[in-house]
Amino acid sequence: MHRDIDLRRINLRVTDPYKQEGLVSTIPVEITLVDVLNTYSFERWPHEKVRCVKCNGHRHKHGFTALLSNGAKALFGSKCGEEEFGENWAQATARLREQSRRQNFLLQLDILVPHLPKIRQGLKGWRPACDSIEYSHKRFKNNLGYVYEALCQLVARGETQLKIYEKKTIQKTKRGSGESRFVTEWIPQTISILQGGAYFKNITPTEILDKADAILKQIEIIAGDTSRFDTNHMSILNKQLNNVYRELRQIVDMRKGAILFFAPDHLKLVAYWATRTDSNYIPGRYKAQANELHNLDTGKSMALPPSFAPIDENILLILQSPEKMNFAAA
Ligand SMILES: [Zn+2]
Repeated sequence: MHRDIDLRRINLRVTDPYKQEGLVSTIPVEITLVDVLNTYSFERWPHEKVRCVKCNGHRHKHGFTALLSNGAKALFGSKCGEEEFGENWAQATARLREQSRRQNFLLQLDILVPHLPKIRQGLKGWRPACDSIEYSHKRFKNNLGYVYEALCQLVARGETQLKIYEKKTIQKTKRGSGESRFVTEWIPQTISILQGGAYFKNITPTEILDKADAILKQIEIIAGDTSRFDTNHMSILNKQLNNVYRELRQIVDMRKGAILFFAPDHLKLVAYWATRTDSNYIPGRYKAQANELHNLDTGKSMALPPSFAPIDENILLILQSPEKMNFAAA
C-alpha cells in the first residue's frame, strides 16, 4: 500500500498503458502476481487496441496493468487476470479500488483545506441571521400559534397553496335510477400560492451551523495527518459534509422565505386565508398591515425583525466547488 504522500501523485488510471516501462508480451513461466498497478482506459482506442497477455486478444480498451514477481509488467484485459491469478487477482484489484477511493478523498481534501479557515470564519457571520430566524419562529409561535402551526403542517406535507374549504350541499342523482339525494361536500378554493414556504421548514439553523463547524473542524484535523484515518472514516466525513452543504442551503432558503412571506401583498392574502379557514383549525380574524400580521381578536401580531441579518452565500460556492475558487484566486 502506498503512503498518502505518494498516493497523491501516483497515476492509478492510465490512458496509454504502452507508455509504461518493463512491459512483457507473454506471461513468463513460474510467475506470481505482486500487485495490480493501475487500470487503463486506452485513449487511442478504437484506432489502436490493447493486446491481453493471457488470451492474446487484441481488442481491449479497458483493462489492468499487473506487476509480476520477476519485476516485469503485463497488460491484461478486464477478465483474464482473474483467470490467471484467481484469488490473488481479486485481492489486488480490491486493493487498487481502495487506493483509488482514498486518492480521491485526499485530492479533494487538498483542494478544500486551504479554504477552511475562510469558510469557518464566514459561517460565524451567519450566526446573527440564524438567531433572528429562530427568534422570529418563537415569536410567531407565541403570538399567532394557530397560523404558524397550520403553515408548518402545510409545508411539511409539501403543499404550495393556501386553500380554504367551503361546505356545500349539493344534489346528486344516481345514474339510471333517477333517485336523487342531498350530500355535503367540502369544496377547496385556492386563495393564493404560498410564498416563502421554506421559512416554515422544520429545521433549526443554529444547530446546523454548530454541526457544520464540528465537521469542518474534523476535516482540518484529518488533513493535519491523514495517515491516522482510514478511508471509510474519510468517506463518512465526506457524506456528512455533503449533508451539511444541503442543510446550509436550506438556511439560505429559509431566510429568503421569511422575506417573501412577510411581503405586504402576500401577507394580505395570508390574513384572508387565515380568517376564512375553518375556525376549528385557525380561530380568529386576521389583518395584514404593511409587513405585519395581526390577530384582531387577541391584539397580538407578528412581523419580521426590522433589520433581518443578511447571509454571505459565497461560503456555499466555496464549499460546493473549492477548485473553482482556486482558479478565481490564480
Ligand atoms: Zn485476455
